[in-house]
Formats: sequence, structure tokens, C-alpha cells
Amino acid sequence: MSGPVTVVAVDGPAGSGKSSVSRAAARRLGFDYQDTGAAYRALAWFVLERGIDPADEEAVVNVLADFDYAIGIDPDDYFVRVGGVDVEAAIREPRISVVVSAIARILPVRAYLVDLFRHVIASSDKPGVITEGRDITTVVCPDAPVRILLTASPEVRMARRSAEITGQSADEVAKHLTSRDAQDSRVVDFMNAAEGVIAIDSTHLDFDQTIQAVVDLVHAAAR
Ligand code: C5P
Repeated sequence: MSGPVTVVAVDGPAGSGKSSVSRAAARRLGFDYQDTGAAYRALAWFVLERGIDPADEEAVVNVLADFDYAIGIDPDDYFVRVGGVDVEAAIREPRISVVVSAIARILPVRAYLVDLFRHVIASSDKPGVITEGRDITTVVCPDAPVRILLTASPEVRMARRSAEITGQSADEVAKHLTSRDAQDSRVVDFMNAAEGVIAIDSTHLDFDQTIQAVVDLVHAAAR
């Protein structure tokens, strides 16, 4: 098992487009793509499945021993499984989004998942891996040769997320997104670029231009 040649770290707030952009950029580059938010969401799903209160930190940490998580990192073969069960759709449900931040602020949970993310990166047999989340540029892969903070104005992020989610009003979507970002930013600063991290503001870029901005940074770093 040889490690990837290029690790690309992408962070950003909810609705910045980092998942879809990272996945498409990975496809364009022939890289793998790792969605780390999926692991926090899958753990939240598992905690609810077990009937555990997400606020009970000790119980959440104890359940990690039984958390059998698998993710597809080929951008054309994405899956998320817990104990062999396909949870790809279930982890996007609003009931998960409202509890995931409580789970993500538990420090032993973060330490466990950071280690898991590094193992997933090391398991890639592609020339590179784009890994996206909140703390990838600062904690998971602070030495990555390409580190990007993907941002967009709050209005644009809310409009993009609202277009993705059905069954919730634009106001509800905006309220949930703002509250999740506020909770998450108490643990990790993903609103400001850390030293050496390049910010891409996609407010005035379309999807294709944003993908190309990421691809260009990867090519520039390789030169
Ligand atoms: O990226 P996504 O919105 O799916 O992430 C879901 C949640 O997982 C975030 O709201 C945050 O609480 C947590 N998360 C995190 N660190 C990461 C990725 C996600 O804390 N690297």
C-alpha cells in the first residue's frame, strides 16, 4: 500500500459547495475524494440508532468501539455504510444535521475520526486525494501541499443549500445552517484561512469556475 502523491485539503462552512466541488475536482484530476462530514454524520446516525442521547459524551465515546464505518473514496463510486448498511441518504436527513454538531464537539470523537481520515488517505492508490471538511487544513493534514478554504457569502450559501433541500422552507434552511456553523465554529475555525491556506471565494464563481480554481491550484503546486 503506497500513500498518495498529492494530498489536497479543503475546508469551509456548510453550503460553501466544498463537497460537490471537491468531488468534481477529484474526478477531473484522477484523484480520490474523501468526504469527512459523512463520518460525523454516520456516527450521529449510529448514535440515534442505538437510542443514545447525543449529549451523553461518555455513551457516544463508548459506542465508537462498535462503529463499523466504510466510505467510498472513488469519486465515481461514493458510498457510506455503517455495519454494512447503506446510510448515504439517511445521514442527510435534517434529524441528523441537528445533532451532528453535538457529536463533533466531543474531543475523543474528533481524535478517533482524525486518525481514521489519515488511514483512509493512506489507503488510496490514486496519484492524489482531495479531503474536505472543517479541520483538514489545520488538524488532519496541516502539511498538505495544497490547502484551500472554500468560502461564499452567507446569502449564496443559503440559496445553494436551499436549492438542494426539499421539504424545508428557505427560512428554515437558513436558520439551521447558521446555527450549525455557529456551533461548529466553537470547535474549529473554518471561516478564516489559517497561515498558508489559500481562500477561494466562490460567491461570484459558477460551479465549473470553482472546480477549475481548485484544479489550477493543484497544478500550480505540482510545478
Ligand atoms: O460537511 P458536512 O456538513 O456534511 O459536515 C457535517 C458536520 O460534521 C459538520 O456540521 C461538523 O459538525 C462536522 N464536521 C467536523 N469536522 C469535519 C467535517 C465535519 O466537525 N472535518
